Amino acid sequence: KLQRISRPVKKAAFTFVAPEPVKEPKLLAIAEKTAREVLNLEEINNWSEEQKTEFLEVVSGNRVVKGTSPWAHCYGGHQFGFFAGQLGDGRVISLFEAINAKNERWELQLKGVGKTPFSRAADGFAVLRSSIREFLGSEAMAALGVPTTRVLSIVHTPKRMVQREVLETGSIVSRLSPSWIRFGSFEIFFYRMERKQLRSLADFVVEEVYGLNPLENPEYEKYGNRYGRLFNKISRQTARMVAHWQAVGFCHGVMNTDNMSILGLTIDYGPFAFLDNYDPNWICNHSDYEGRYSFRNQPTACLWNLLKLSHTFQELIGAGDEVDKQWFLDANYPNGNDDDAPSKKDEILRNGKEIIDLKLGFQTLQQTDLEIIITPLLNLLAAHIVDYHHFFRSLCSFSTTSSNSPSIFIKDLLTRSVNLEKALSDFNSWFEIYKQRLLSEDSNDINRSIKMKQINPKFVLRNWVAEEVIESVERGDSEVLKRVLQMCENPFKEWGVDPSEFQQEAARFCGDVPAWGLGIQCSCSS
Ligand code: AMP
Ligand code: MG
Ligand code: MG
Repeated sequence: KLQRISRPVKKAAFTFVAPEPVKEPKLLAIAEKTAREVLNLEEINNWSEEQKTEFLEVVSGNRVVKGTSPWAHCYGGHQFGFFAGQLGDGRVISLFEAINAKNERWELQLKGVGKTPFSRAADGFAVLRSSIREFLGSEAMAALGVPTTRVLSIVHTPKRMVQREVLETGSIVSRLSPSWIRFGSFEIFFYRMERKQLRSLADFVVEEVYGLNPLENPEYEKYGNRYGRLFNKISRQTARMVAHWQAVGFCHGVMNTDNMSILGLTIDYGPFAFLDNYDPNWICNHSDYEGRYSFRNQPTACLWNLLKLSHTFQELIGAGDEVDKQWFLDANYPNGNDDDAPSKKDEILRNGKEIIDLKLGFQTLQQTDLEIIITPLLNLLAAHIVDYHHFFRSLCSFSTTSSNSPSIFIKDLLTRSVNLEKALSDFNSWFEIYKQRLLSEDSNDINRSIKMKQINPKFVLRNWVAEEVIESVERGDSEVLKRVLQMCENPFKEWGVDPSEFQQEAARFCGDVPAWGLGIQCSCSS
């Protein structure tokens, strides 16, 4: 019991603590793709009863695998702009690390398995709603090619009652990441002035997480201060992550520094949302009153978070000419020298632009695309209240040869426009420029369409779809959870074409957002 008393955990990056056992856990679903790709767990459907039982015992926290000692991470962080002191894994416990066939190391955690020293005043549990959202959200993002942590399973614990706004039953997600270390893991040492621990953590991340062990790779230390280079790497990974978010229309909702992975992976699926209409000012977190983490602010929030992280690196990097020269240098970067290493902001813009260029079906990347094509398009989508994902999926069928006016093509997407005539004429002008751009690179309609359909999803895990799944599972039917998981895993598939029952449901989930489901906001209560 002592293990579970909330307390400051000083001079330590983690503490040992075991999951709290629970009666009669029920397995709701396994993310088979992750099980296979990440953990090499094959033929899940052919498991023996014994294997099934063992799996369920492990992922519900009822069995600690022999020879392992579960632990919870200690971290701090800035929440909505203010340093919040010790946070840590308040309802998450890491079970073990596993090395897969590709020699990758993955840390398996259970979320919602009881109190740890980091629980503060909370209960250490999770409910179905938030667990389903994390379960589906992680797999949807992975399939869209966004850097993310993964999930393995979701369990329902009907015997564990959890008090939220109403009394609910508990749920446990098992999830995986190469590392769960966050910006806040550095911050807690920095603000406690635990300098030795800070340096050890940085060394651990350099050598063990990024695998830049100087003994194995003598080249590495040649490039100067390892901590400066580490910071630079973290910046780049973060820039890549947020560029993906902007391009796939993902709004995270709680970009506090305790939710920023040092590997630039999407972590902490809380009040996240995929956009419906393209609205750059969209705030998905009901508790984010000022819009600090609105869709358009996400790149800036990353920069702000990196700035906070950089403070913790001050002493490790030190000062002086040598450091200044090395700061932007990254030996693994393709054009790795001082002159052409771009600034962080440029990097975000460039990454984002490249992904959008692909979404638009361009074969070549042109400097002027941002100004002439992308920005005007985004402005049009916002002005005329157009669904972001439906637009890009429809664009896959755009023809440079058809004599039809493009306005025919866009009309179905303008149902929310307040000035249809203006919308049509605006889009007509844009389509003309788009068409010329395609013709300038001899774009072939058929080839382009095939390629574009591999980057512009047919299915997007919108909040209204997640809501339907949650309601259904809460009523005791988890079949729709499994079907939507399949859709999350295969977002580019042409869902909803044949008339089977599943396909009809699939068509509905890919179709127009029902009025009740448009732009649902979530709060953090989970
Ligand atoms: P989040 O807003 O999800 O990033 O969580 C912020 C902090 O609150 C983290 O330290 C979490 O571990 C902790 N936390 C959130 N929910 C709970 C809960 N139900 N029980 C214990 N700790 C929690
Ligand atoms: Mg968190
Ligand atoms: Mg959370």
